[in-house]
Amino acid sequence: MNKDKIWLSSPHMGGNEQKFVNEAFKENWVAPLGPNVNGFEEDIRKYLFSDSSREGAVAALSSGTAALHLALIMLGVNTGDEVLCQSMTFAASANPIAYLGATPVFIDSEEDTLNLCPDQLRKAIEDRVSKGKKPKAIIAVHLYGMPYNVDEINRIAREFEIPVVEDAAEALGSTYKGEKCGTFAEYAILSFNGNKIITTSGGGALVTKSQAAKEKAVFLATQARDAAAHYQHSEIGYNYRLSNISAGIGRGQMEVVDNRVNARRQMHDFYVNLFSEIEGVKVYSAPNEDYFSNHWLSVISLDEKKTGGINREALRLHLEKLNIESRPLWKPMHMQPVFKDAPFYGDGVAERLFENGLCLPSGSNLSPEEKNRIKTGILSCFEK
Ligand SMILES: *Cc1c(COP(=O)(O)O)cnc(C)c1O
Repeated sequence: MNKDKIWLSSPHMGGNEQKFVNEAFKENWVAPLGPNVNGFEEDIRKYLFSDSSREGAVAALSSGTAALHLALIMLGVNTGDEVLCQSMTFAASANPIAYLGATPVFIDSEEDTLNLCPDQLRKAIEDRVSKGKKPKAIIAVHLYGMPYNVDEINRIAREFEIPVVEDAAEALGSTYKGEKCGTFAEYAILSFNGNKIITTSGGGALVTKSQAAKEKAVFLATQARDAAAHYQHSEIGYNYRLSNISAGIGRGQMEVVDNRVNARRQMHDFYVNLFSEIEGVKVYSAPNEDYFSNHWLSVISLDEKKTGGINREALRLHLEKLNIESRPLWKPMHMQPVFKDAPFYGDGVAERLFENGLCLPSGSNLSPEEKNRIKTGILSCFEK
């Protein structure tokens, strides 16, 4: 029995990607600029802002990580500064803090959304301020597509006058109180890596509040060239722009983004259904109607006292034998060897989630047969 692997999340082309890529070849726009880059930026801007009272601009970049790096640079983060960051996240949320010689200060999650705990955030800010150092920024993540508590986090950020960087890498298409994730903060970032909700094969974007901020980001992303024919530089620059070929893939993907969100949400419903009969397994879902998740990945947690001893590792290994991929939640940053010296404010929520949580196959391209294999595979683990 050598069944094909079922992946957690794999690329899912819509059909028109190649058309945009072919146009780029035909016009010889094989460069990190061109009509696809401009078109893709405009597609994303419209998607995020067209039915919103807010305004913004979008800079297409080579990765979500690059976008975070530029956001922190534009906020003036420097050597010796401190930046607050959700602990339960992918390392890419925190690495750019270290690129700048600043110190990450990690914050625990709340159980409802898995995201920044407002109480721990407030505690951390008050403590850092009392130690004489006001944090330069707050990196808040919409993990697995679930929006963070936007109102509470914004209230705290305003009260202490600390800007928020919104990590919406996993949350394209998610909304909070009807507004799209990626529009809530001074800067937001998106990712189009291969495993995300849409992909450009690799890429990202920085969402800014103004056209001027976007232009500054593009300036930094193209080696910070002053307006002179002879390559003059007054600032350190980066090579972070998105390729016109990749952007062509992105334009095709933006035509199907809503289908992709619907399909992921259907996978979540599939798991809600499947586990409704199984004692001791919780499927993470929106805490109330303010939250609309794209459910980039469906997340469960297992209480082995109620599942008859089946914990997340038992289920993961069981599925692995059936060639079905599943994964523990992101290992919190304050538990990572590389960040072991960074301060952390929390009381065990992220540790517990990491211990008991599992991400299940969630791709928008899973066939009915594959869903059936997943269902049978999961049920057979709990019937033992
Ligand atoms: C994927 C991801 C990023 C980084 O995006 P890349 O495009 O891979 O650099 C940042 N934050 C989170 C939460 C992510 O999942």
